[in-house]
Amino acid sequence: MKTNPLHKSPMKKFSTAVVVLLTLLLSPLSSAASNAKVTQISDNVYAIFLDYYHSLVVVGDQGVLITDPANPARAEALQTEIAKLTDLPVTQVVLSHEHYDHVGGTEVFKDADIYAHQATRPVFRIDTTGQAPTSVDQYVQDKTTLEVGQTQVDLLHYGAADGVGTLAIHLPEEKVVFTADLYETNQLTDQRWLADSNFLGSRKLLNALTEFKPEFAITTHSAELDPEQLQLAADFYNDLYAAVEPALSKAMAEGFPAVMALMATLPEQVKLDKYKSFQNYDHLPAHVERMIFSIFHGG
Ligand SMILES: [Zn+2]
Repeated sequence: MKTNPLHKSPMKKFSTAVVVLLTLLLSPLSSAASNAKVTQISDNVYAIFLDYYHSLVVVGDQGVLITDPANPARAEALQTEIAKLTDLPVTQVVLSHEHYDHVGGTEVFKDADIYAHQATRPVFRIDTTGQAPTSVDQYVQDKTTLEVGQTQVDLLHYGAADGVGTLAIHLPEEKVVFTADLYETNQLTDQRWLADSNFLGSRKLLNALTEFKPEFAITTHSAELDPEQLQLAADFYNDLYAAVEPALSKAMAEGFPAVMALMATLPEQVKLDKYKSFQNYDHLPAHVERMIFSIFHGG
């Protein structure tokens, strides 16, 4: 029987080796067993998207700062990914806000100080799920600057946004911003998640962050880092405000019954065609209602 002359040729072996080598070189930093997407932003700054949460990772001289472990299983997986980048331990964990699904797993990082905004405290106190940290080392106020090795990390609070203890992060040198739960790529937030979002605060925060002109915008539940998405989110909240505020002001001048009537009618009347192609555009009435409440009621 005739054998295929290519079967044992040195050329074939060589080309196989090239393919294997190329495959290894082109693989993401993560191993085959992990679903992590690791993006290196600068020498010491990474974004790790893992199990539907995006964490900022800043490697310092003595230790590593991370955001939102989310839960114990993800915290373990995040630790495994960080160990591929540095031998240093995680020494600072910054919690983006008080929502319980973001703040679990801090106990995995035994050497770490936990940072959260002071407004998270009363919400952590009433947790019945066991996810909130049992102790927070630093309850911070409106602006805190941490020096993590060479990297300046600004923790910023502009008021209630998604949750009441919202902390955004800005790395001025690396032109990175980090926020949680304010937007996702090309979609309106699912209406089921709006109950604890203050839309005035979300608008204020997004506008402030676009002023920094970031090159990387991390948002917790999207893998992308595109600052255009941050701008689009700010545009959406500004357009929503502009569609609601004049009519609400007029109704408020007329009295409470007019406000009640507006609440019943305006959500179905507002159309924002710019966002028509977004996923969950049909949830726009709930966003209108939330903006009415945020302006009228402060919540
Ligand atoms: Zn949240």
